[in-house]
Amino acid sequence: MRNTEHKSNRRNGFFFLGNQLALDFLNTLPVQDGRQLELLPDFGALLGWFEAAGLLQSREVAALRQKWDGSKRAQQTTAAMRQLREKLRERVVAWENGGSVRRSTLRELNRVMAAHPMRTRLKAEGKSLSTELWFEAREPEDLFAPLAHSAAALFAATDRNCVRKCAQCVLHFQDTSKKGTRRWCSMRLCGNQLKVAAYAARRRQERAASQSYLITKKSPMPSASMPAQ
Ligand SMILES: [Zn+2]
Repeated sequence: MRNTEHKSNRRNGFFFLGNQLALDFLNTLPVQDGRQLELLPDFGALLGWFEAAGLLQSREVAALRQKWDGSKRAQQTTAAMRQLREKLRERVVAWENGGSVRRSTLRELNRVMAAHPMRTRLKAEGKSLSTELWFEAREPEDLFAPLAHSAAALFAATDRNCVRKCAQCVLHFQDTSKKGTRRWCSMRLCGNQLKVAAYAARRRQERAASQSYLITKKSPMPSASMPAQ
């Protein structure tokens, strides 16, 4: 994966190419230059991700930061979030490969959703009404609400055949393309890289073939151009 920014894929340095919140959350531990890169090292970064994901408004982020940043509870919540992410990664990978969701995962997600529920509200759009989900972000732990909800929705309502890991890197995504043949996290990050690598390999093969052809042909001696001693 190259460190290339792309508007539609990256916001505030985070990847949003999963087409699904829980997958975008998984994608906060990418690998760059062969090393894992922790994008959620602290509470500030976690709030940054929530804002970039459109889950929190900047004033909510400011309020949470002012009240909790640097506190033990915020640190613990951030660590618990990373733990949840890694557990989830394990389960998602197994699920992508056809495994069923374990009872323990069900119980854990249900426990988190009961403690930190998403709420529903009515929204007016012109003359029509719609409902939208929201959560109250007063305490660090409240941040679990949208993640647990989204993980539950992933397992319950998403076709697992459309969820996969990039062919080139560690990022996961839900393939929403019409053909359903998306292989890469993004063409820009990994697709082009693979294409360039394949092209370079082809060129190397072509060069090797033409060189072996040249070697088998007898080349004439170059005419002497050295000055006589
Ligand atoms: Zn990739």
